[in-house]
Amino acid sequence: MRIVALAGGIGGARFLRGLKDVIAPDDEITVIGNTGDDIHLFGLKVCPDLDTVMYTLGGGIHEEQGWGRAEESFAVKEELAAYGVGPSWFGLGDKDFATHIVRTQMLGAGYPLSAVTEALCDRWQPGVRLLPMSDDRVETHVRITDEQGTRAVHFQEYWVKLHASVPAEAIVAVGAEGAKPAPGVLEAIAAADVILFPPSNPVVSIGTILAVPGIRAAVAAAPAPVVGLSPIIGGAPVRGMADKVLAAVGVAATAQDVALHYGADLLDGWLVDEADTAAVAAVEAGGIPCRAVPLLMSDPAATAAMARAALELAEQVRA
Ligand code: GDP
Ligand code: CA
Repeated sequence: MRIVALAGGIGGARFLRGLKDVIAPDDEITVIGNTGDDIHLFGLKVCPDLDTVMYTLGGGIHEEQGWGRAEESFAVKEELAAYGVGPSWFGLGDKDFATHIVRTQMLGAGYPLSAVTEALCDRWQPGVRLLPMSDDRVETHVRITDEQGTRAVHFQEYWVKLHASVPAEAIVAVGAEGAKPAPGVLEAIAAADVILFPPSNPVVSIGTILAVPGIRAAVAAAPAPVVGLSPIIGGAPVRGMADKVLAAVGVAATAQDVALHYGADLLDGWLVDEADTAAVAAVEAGGIPCRAVPLLMSDPAATAAMARAALELAEQVRA
């Protein structure tokens, strides 16, 4: 079985770990990763979501934090601060710096991001084929209004520095309209037996991937069933501030509104948490078969059960 998953960072990576636990030995997982969160810092290209997937599946992740390297130190960050060189709000550890140095060096030598990601994965052996959504530069920006007036800030500034403390007025994936899917992305979607949307952020993770011209249409046209899992439980994100970016696109932070936002043209199935059993009817009324199952990735067994439920729903809806 060929499984394709679109993924952001923490929510995507943790789900993928559960998925790896339940697939058969000869099943293949292709992950299409969000690169709209990418940022240039200290002259280095940082790809937070690709790295979260790579470190999580490769065994290098800081488990409690969910991003960055385990057993990390911050000597370089402290030295940069001593020079007065920022930003100080983005936590890059010493081990993590090496990843960004290797990536930036390879990009500078002319390799596309997809080839660089493959090279980094040679070390981490994540057990999936990890493809960036695009080799072209796409950067998510957020329009806000604060004491400095109305302005656009990089998504990382909105999320990490400002902690989404002011409303997001608009979300723009800068560069997306001119971007091309990375080599292999459209082919993987077309050849998939199952396509999954993990419980990743629907706007700035999966929404950004779908904004690359050709990807949304390929998912909608794919013969494979498309099944998603809600990142919203009981009217709130399980972790993070997804409600803020959902509000910017006019979508309420509920399990059913997220499903209807993706729509029946994309989704063939949707999983909500048992706390949202009341949402099942509304999702099905929108033409999307829906089941309520436990959706908290509290431990490996619970996460594996979620992946199994997603694959089962895919089988049930397969035409
Ligand atoms: P990011 O790029 O690191 O923000 O990660 P993703 O976009 O992949 O995932 C973020 C989303 O994961 C958030 O909206 C969370 O609500 C969701 N999430 C995190 N943990 C869980 C969980 O245990 N269960 C569910 N259903 N969603 C989760
Ligand atoms: Ca992200």
